[in-house]
Amino acid sequence: MTAMPITGTLRRLLGPGEPEVTCEVCFARLDAYVDAGVLGQDADALVPGMRAHLAGCPACSDEHQSLKALVSSA
Ligand SMILES: [Zn+2]
Repeated sequence: MTAMPITGTLRRLLGPGEPEVTCEVCFARLDAYVDAGVLGQDADALVPGMRAHLAGCPACSDEHQSLKALVSSA
């Protein structure tokens, strides 16, 4: 059997390939995550699993985008 290369997207569809925070954690840490990103810090290191969650959760992704826009314009 030949193993096919699995892309990041497919891996996500297949199951938890990388750690991911829950919506609850995402919501609680979103402020800090956005602040770090805007300040040029490593937001993904600050909140591990956040990036993966945002990629797979439209609701939190929307929240992230609007918060980022808000912070960036401040
Ligand atoms: Zn979410």
